[in-house]
Amino acid sequence: MQSIDTYDFSGKRAIIRVDFNVPLDKQTKEVTDDTRIRAAIPTIKKVLAGGGSVILMSHLGRPNKNPDPDFSLKFIISCVERNLGMTIDFADDCMGPQAAEKAVALKTGQVLLLENLRFYAEEEGKPRGLAEDASDEEKAAAKKVVKESQKEFTKKLASYADCYVNDAFGTAHRAHASTALIASCFPNDKMFGYIMEGEIKAIDKVLEHPEKPFTAIIGGAKVSSKITIIENLLKKVDHLIIGGGMVYTFKGAQGGKVGNSLCEADQFEVALNILAKAKELGVQVHLGTDVLCGQEFNNDTPRKVFPANDIPDGWMGLDAGSETTRSFCDVIESSKTILWNGPVGVFEMPNFATGSRKVAEAIARATSKGAYSLVGGGDSVACINQFGLNKQVSYVSTGGGARLEYMEGIELPGVAAVRK
Ligand code: AMP
Repeated sequence: MQSIDTYDFSGKRAIIRVDFNVPLDKQTKEVTDDTRIRAAIPTIKKVLAGGGSVILMSHLGRPNKNPDPDFSLKFIISCVERNLGMTIDFADDCMGPQAAEKAVALKTGQVLLLENLRFYAEEEGKPRGLAEDASDEEKAAAKKVVKESQKEFTKKLASYADCYVNDAFGTAHRAHASTALIASCFPNDKMFGYIMEGEIKAIDKVLEHPEKPFTAIIGGAKVSSKITIIENLLKKVDHLIIGGGMVYTFKGAQGGKVGNSLCEADQFEVALNILAKAKELGVQVHLGTDVLCGQEFNNDTPRKVFPANDIPDGWMGLDAGSETTRSFCDVIESSKTILWNGPVGVFEMPNFATGSRKVAEAIARATSKGAYSLVGGGDSVACINQFGLNKQVSYVSTGGGARLEYMEGIELPGVAAVRK
């Protein structure tokens, strides 16, 4: 594998898998949040500055036919141009003669955007249009057909370029044509873009080489969606802070009273196993001692603090109490590596946001004293942004499902294909 920083792009056409799956206004079809486009600009500019030309490929939404006009990437052209500060060309079909002709005609410094890859079933390798009552044999036969034509699809995309850059971390957990399969067509000319590189480095730094003490704060709503990540983290961390709605499943499993709080009784055994494993590995688990409760799930409900294991019926835990928050912050501030995934309360409601805000502030303080902090997971990112502290942590990961799987210890096809 090559490095984007040292690769010689001069006179070469680079096909870059970007994640331009951006939200569009329903009526005007204008891009309503261009974060993903902005994030890809350094990679594109690097290729251009190195004397190369660029072919951009991406998916947008979930089209299920070809073409599917609602999901055309033509809607994002002006946004890409604005962010890049130059005009770009567009091929209205990622296959077909036009794309190939435009790719061949590209001159140094030019950029071509291909139409939505997912107009073709081959991108994902999943058959389309199967009858709902299709038999297993019919499904298998249809899958075989699409997998066969996927090879041609992949080769065609690869034929447009001299080198491949994968900068779509958000889809790296999918073994699709443009995110993984295509890499094998460029055995000596494949590399990560800056987004991919940044995400991988940040997660590896935390999971592979953490400076100790290492604290993970896992919050959010449900234990069931975070088990694998907690299990993987237990082998690495010194402290595990559990916050948010997950706390009550742990407290309930330990025999505590959780009132009307979110609680997954079917996860009691899992919770107890996690605690036992933590003890065995010498990991200190912090569940908190007090909780700020409300009577209903809304911002203006009456509030009261109760012991975390003795919440009366009619009350639900919606934020960490002040004693809990203080103890979480003490642990965070004495850590050298911090991973934050999930808020410790319902931060969207101002009356229950204090715990999450104090946690975010403690992470920022620890970072300013030299700790490495990684914030990841949709809601913790929204949370840190809400408190305006995103610039005061070491890295904010936007990888979504891909990041989660990577942190769970699963090898991502998009990463493996480039590294191979
Ligand atoms: P997740 O996607 O699992 O990280 O969950 C994030 C969501 O959990 C956020 O929308 C929070 O509002 C919510 N959350 C945090 N604490 C609680 C709680 N005590 N009860 C219910 N939901 C919570």
